[in-house]
Amino acid sequence: MPDENRPVTGLRDWLRRLADTDRLSVARPGVPLTYRLAAIAKRLDGRRATVFPSPDGHPIPVISGLVSSRGWIAEAMGVTESDVLQRFEDAAASPLPWREVTDAPVQAEVHRDVDLTRQLPVPTHNEHDSGPYITAGLLIARNPRTGVQNVSINRCQISGPDRIGVLILPRHAHAFYQMAEEAGDALEVAVVVGVDPMTLLASQAIVPIDHDELEIAGALRGEPLETVKCVTNDVRVPADAEIVIEGRLLPQVREPEGPFGEFPQYYGPRDDRHVIEVDALTHRREPLFHTIVGGGLEHLWLGAIPREATLLAHLRRSFPGVVDVHLPVGGVCRYHLVVQLDKRQEGEAKNVIMGAFAGHYDIKQVVVVDGDVDIHDPDEVQWAIATRFQADRDLVVVPEAQGSKLDPSARHGVSAKMGLDATVPLAAEPFEFTRIRIPDEDTIDPESYVDADGLDWLRGRLDG
Ligand code: MN
Repeated sequence: MPDENRPVTGLRDWLRRLADTDRLSVARPGVPLTYRLAAIAKRLDGRRATVFPSPDGHPIPVISGLVSSRGWIAEAMGVTESDVLQRFEDAAASPLPWREVTDAPVQAEVHRDVDLTRQLPVPTHNEHDSGPYITAGLLIARNPRTGVQNVSINRCQISGPDRIGVLILPRHAHAFYQMAEEAGDALEVAVVVGVDPMTLLASQAIVPIDHDELEIAGALRGEPLETVKCVTNDVRVPADAEIVIEGRLLPQVREPEGPFGEFPQYYGPRDDRHVIEVDALTHRREPLFHTIVGGGLEHLWLGAIPREATLLAHLRRSFPGVVDVHLPVGGVCRYHLVVQLDKRQEGEAKNVIMGAFAGHYDIKQVVVVDGDVDIHDPDEVQWAIATRFQADRDLVVVPEAQGSKLDPSARHGVSAKMGLDATVPLAAEPFEFTRIRIPDEDTIDPESYVDADGLDWLRGRLDG
């Protein structure tokens, strides 16, 4: 039996656990890679992981929906849901260096003659996507000056047999690329597909540049991650991964990429973007290809947990009364933040709102509630706004701030911010905000009061 209190350290261990607990479905062989595979995975997302043998007859199976709920992520981490954010933040604060090996399962088979269109089963997900995309690929790059690695997930369009169009937002991989490009060099990279849940989660950590996300993966796993050097460059990749694509981000080259269905449930537009030229493809014997359905729950939750952890730590530095934070699915796990505050000073909620806006530019709406509101229940948050918020007193609006470029209502990433203080005034009358409650309503078992013969009695009574 797997130990529930230890993190899951292998992708295949996690799939085994899902299969053993009725949380994984295997499709019949031959599901089409264009649209149909993503449609099935999306419909089961959050309830069941999916495995697709022989998709379009391809020998490599596709898997999806591995970490599509908060509960599953907690289970994979080996903690309760309430400890997820603290555990993640602890790992980010105390990373564990990886251990390099020379003999790795992911290099069991090496192809230097690469044709991604034939060798990998890459699905096309949403209706207007430009074509097949690798969506669960960890892009690993090295700082050309320091050698410190960075990990991020970037959407990868299959542009040709050995060509990938990639969206690289102006963060760490982009900074490394600029250093290389200024020197006239290509940037060596690897795109890693099929890793354990902790490495997947760690890739989304919001940490400063030159903080290697693979070391956070090690801390989350509770043991150093084993890595191996790529066969054609110096990038180190998880030794136990399913598939690695080795290549170079070309300097001074931009080619059309997109559109692609993104987390806000809209398409990221087509534009000239960075290009990876592929040098080698390595994989395990009988590998698995992981795909994340763009805009699906797996996509949303993978972004949410690391962001929540970072935002909670950020707010607590200034506001020790902040108890918990949540990025709800309705706010695309990025734009709307709910903060639970143990308020000590009148006006504190508005300071928390301003602190949250500064925590991440994606944050567009902040709702601050008291400790009696379940921030993971959207109805509870709505109730707090309905009964504890007045727009003339409790609303903060910041016009024309930096927001998300993927929010279609923003103008080129310029967005208004809105904060709602839905906390009870400290000076409220004792009975004013007392929530109604029936004694024992939460603890009694109503079924134990049901009379087995009661329906006969009722029918007799109604007929009489
Ligand atoms: Mn980074």
